[in-house]
Amino acid sequence: MKLAQTDIRVLKGIGDAKAKQLLRLGVHTLWDLLTYYPMRFEDRTKLTDIFSLEDESFACVNAKVVTAPTEHYVRKGLTYYKFSVRDESGIMNITFFNNKYIKNYFKIGKMFTFYGKASIRGSRREMVSPEFEEIDSSESTKVIVPVYSLTSGLTQKFLRKIVKEAYEISKQYIEDFMPSEITKEYQLCSLDFAIKNIHFPSDSQSLAIARKRLIFEEFFILQTALRKTKQKEEKTAGVSVNKIDLSPFLSRLNFSLTPAQKRVVDEILSDISGKYVMNRLVQGDVGSGKTVIAAIAMYVCAKNNLQSAMMVPTEVLARQHYNDLSKILNPLGIKTALLTGSTPQKEKKEIYEKLKNNEINVVFGTHALITDKTEFNNLALAITDEQHRFGVRQRLRLAQKGKAVHTLYMTATPIPRSLALIIYGDMDISLIDELPPGRQKVDTFCVGEDMRQRIHAFIKKEISSGNQAYIVCPAVEENEEIPIKSVTDIYANLKEKIFPDIPIGIVHGKMKPKEKEAEMNKFVSGETKILVATTVIEVGVNVPKATLMVIENSERFGLSQLHQLRGRVGRGKNKSYCILFCELFNKEIKERMNIMVKSSNGFDISEKDLELRGPGDFFGVRQHGLPALKIASFSTDLAVLKESGKASEKMLSDDPDLKKQSHIYIRKKIESLTKDLTM
Ligand code: ADP
Ligand code: MG
Repeated sequence: MKLAQTDIRVLKGIGDAKAKQLLRLGVHTLWDLLTYYPMRFEDRTKLTDIFSLEDESFACVNAKVVTAPTEHYVRKGLTYYKFSVRDESGIMNITFFNNKYIKNYFKIGKMFTFYGKASIRGSRREMVSPEFEEIDSSESTKVIVPVYSLTSGLTQKFLRKIVKEAYEISKQYIEDFMPSEITKEYQLCSLDFAIKNIHFPSDSQSLAIARKRLIFEEFFILQTALRKTKQKEEKTAGVSVNKIDLSPFLSRLNFSLTPAQKRVVDEILSDISGKYVMNRLVQGDVGSGKTVIAAIAMYVCAKNNLQSAMMVPTEVLARQHYNDLSKILNPLGIKTALLTGSTPQKEKKEIYEKLKNNEINVVFGTHALITDKTEFNNLALAITDEQHRFGVRQRLRLAQKGKAVHTLYMTATPIPRSLALIIYGDMDISLIDELPPGRQKVDTFCVGEDMRQRIHAFIKKEISSGNQAYIVCPAVEENEEIPIKSVTDIYANLKEKIFPDIPIGIVHGKMKPKEKEAEMNKFVSGETKILVATTVIEVGVNVPKATLMVIENSERFGLSQLHQLRGRVGRGKNKSYCILFCELFNKEIKERMNIMVKSSNGFDISEKDLELRGPGDFFGVRQHGLPALKIASFSTDLAVLKESGKASEKMLSDDPDLKKQSHIYIRKKIESLTKDLTM
């Protein structure tokens, strides 16, 4: 039986309706079901009793319902239900929101397992919206139980049942494709054992053994696929660009390059003057000076009579790059243009013409660059700035505007060193690991609402000494449970009540590009002193006179994002500050904010963030063009990641084309994965 081709409807109890629901989980065949791994396990061998619960930590409790749920209507759309449960050690309250079934489900006297985060106030113990399951006699309580992520219509119990059945009829057909040298060397269990124990572990040790095997396998396949792609790409011949004298360009800068910048420039120039197409990522912390490096590469191409394009995520940034770099490039005889969504039609047409006729050497722009209308005469270099803001497809589309185009990606989103090689396995990486001299540390403070007055006074003081301030608010999403202040409310309040004498601007995502640009320009020119903004200003913008970054609801931002935002200040000579307002404080938030206060290095910050956040994927892997991982995690399984990397490297050096009999399955797996990778 071919498991990957056998429809799950062969199982008892799965008809069309259930099959449809399962399809929503991506489960179509028996193999899909067997590899639909639990999202977590309830270790019912490790129950906590109510008395021993700890505040803010997750626990599994067996308890009996002692009061019937009562309904509390708060307002339309918000009703909660409360009841109590007890075990031998104490009583705990349970609260659920907006679920009318609760009322009849939790009957007095019934026993349940509750799994959730406990909170303790005085002697009161509580769980809000825990996961729960009635304990009945058919499932022994002293086991490790899988918990699957579900979709409506499906229950844990049902999933456990069908997975068990699927395993029973499939087990004799499970083929292990891992070469035996590898399973031996890395002490991996068989695939059969792994599948069985990932769903129904007999104890925590078997679970650990099963997990290790599956994680290893997942990383192994992924890394092998990436290595294979890289093998192929390195062979593509690129347009060869001749090295030229850089001094005319460099003498127009009012600074000299840092050693790190020089090194990266050398790396890029040796790539593009070589035989093969460049595929390079420049990683450098906020403010490390990536733009000038891009400009040098474009300068060299232009002097070789070849075109370059630089794509950035926002209009504001596109215009800024265009303005700054045109000042340097135009006097050197290089023709530049700016192409964004808000470029007037007539002007756009002109730019299209000129790009086609090679009358423009360097074009800056947004997504507008990758529409079908833009055609180049001889595009040789495609640069994507703040590349994490683009999808893989978009990035590739720019490069596809020419033949064998050299590509350069730039990012300030620091990815822990340990991961960069895997995530960007198909690229060469340059690292700018120092900041230009004279940069000052941005002093960072995390404060609560009680400091509001003092911070206002501080803003006033900074502005009266000629500096400028950003105030950033998180974007408001609709249907928020806890309403937060919107950017427009904050703006109105500051303008009318707090700082009536200070000119204040506002930029947010819902404004038209033209308006955004006008507001941005007012801030750049110093006409407005405070800019209230959403994260549209997160990337790139450079206003040296801004010395103060105030972030509202900081707890809502990821650390890397906070670091990016903070990077908007500290760009000039004056001392700069970053104030992180938090509305909510718990242990985790405090710890995260503390990292921001203590560290100013983007890489350290991301590394710590990784440690703190634990399981779950640290960043959107999909953004990087990799398939979603089923079981492995880039954050917690680093040791296995390294091992499987070694195994993959060794296998490929022995058998680069995976021709050996024992590698055939792997080759097939990789072929299907590679299709996903390259879209
Ligand atoms: P990022 O790496 O964040 O894109 P930018 O390229 O915007 O950084 O550079 C930040 C600022 O630092 C700019 O004002 C730029 O002119 C300046 N800069 C870049 N390189 C140097 C250098 N070697 N010495 C002094 N200032 C520099
Ligand atoms: Mg930049």
